[in-house]
Amino acid sequence: FDPKTRTISYLHSRSFLPVKSLAPGEKKRILVTGGAGFVGSHLVDRLMLMGHEVIVLDNFFTGRKNNVAHWIGHPNFELIRHDVVDPFLIEVDQIYHLACPASPPHYQYNPIKTVKTSVMGTINMLGLAKRIKARFLLTSTSVYGDPEEHPQAETYWGHVNPIGPRACYDEGKRVAETLTYAYMHQDDVDVRVARIFNTFGPRMNENDGRVVSNFIMQALKGEELTIYGDGHQTRSFQYVHDLVDGLILLMNKDYTEPINLGNPDEYTIREFAELIRSEVNSSSKIKTLPAPTDDPRKRRPDITKAEQILGWKPRWPVKQGIGETVNYFKRQMEAGLI
Ligand code: NAD
Repeated sequence: FDPKTRTISYLHSRSFLPVKSLAPGEKKRILVTGGAGFVGSHLVDRLMLMGHEVIVLDNFFTGRKNNVAHWIGHPNFELIRHDVVDPFLIEVDQIYHLACPASPPHYQYNPIKTVKTSVMGTINMLGLAKRIKARFLLTSTSVYGDPEEHPQAETYWGHVNPIGPRACYDEGKRVAETLTYAYMHQDDVDVRVARIFNTFGPRMNENDGRVVSNFIMQALKGEELTIYGDGHQTRSFQYVHDLVDGLILLMNKDYTEPINLGNPDEYTIREFAELIRSEVNSSSKIKTLPAPTDDPRKRRPDITKAEQILGWKPRWPVKQGIGETVNYFKRQMEAGLI
């Protein structure tokens, strides 16, 4: 991080990062749970660049100190090792509640802990928000499961297997949303809910089993790119800076219902593999393996609400985001960090 230019060195396209300077009185104390993770650390960067005071709570299950190390020592920044399953008391104005493993190998590693994190962690953070009268934002997911409606609008109730291998995550997030609105109706907590769709970018975990990191790592190592299923299943991927824009806009908007944040630009997994292969300039072959249980065939957000209410839509073309992510993974490999 360069304090003079207020930019971060891994970013190539600096002009894309909107940094609004705060008017006096707009500076807030902000708690970010899961702030050392992939999305959380980008959110922390933006809030810090804006001039807020930021406190990160993380148990480092999937997060890394390295992701926020450039802020350590800054007077506006604090990093605290804490598990959100246990209560925590602090005075802040806003709480971004991200703490939760987000990729299948991580949330399936200990499904009971995943449910505890979603349920007890969210109760603890909502209890804190109630007590200190802070605004609370939950980073939910596309809670629609294997959807029967396409694309998925916020009004769709979803199609989730409650006992399948993804249930600890999907149902955990659904209960977290239920809790959020129970605290709003019962205790007047000021809440926001972001339903996040697949997101990618620098600092995502190289072994999180997600399509983007898998394909990039395989292509960089010259290994075969593995597609699970026939490759015709579709996904939409948003670049992390777009998501951070959306989260900050939502937090600061007077709107309490859930809002989808994702990129509706839909690709088949096979198209995605080919795009990454060409960005890496690799000649790796593509092979197919059986699809995992409860793997959704299609997933695409309907972002009409985000456009109308937040004036938000993704600005980063997927190809450009992939370029940035490939560069990040390359540098990590060169530095021997992965
Ligand atoms: P991540 O795994 O990189 O980050 C999660 C962070 O939470 C990590 O730093 C981890 O150490 C921390 N954490 C986990 N359990 C904790 C606990 N019990 N106590 C304290 N800290 C804990 O994942 P991410 O992709 O950055 O996801 C952030 C949030 O966004 C999650 O809530 C996730 O469910 C949601 N989300 C992400 C995506 C995506 O595509 N990345 C999609 C939908 C929803």
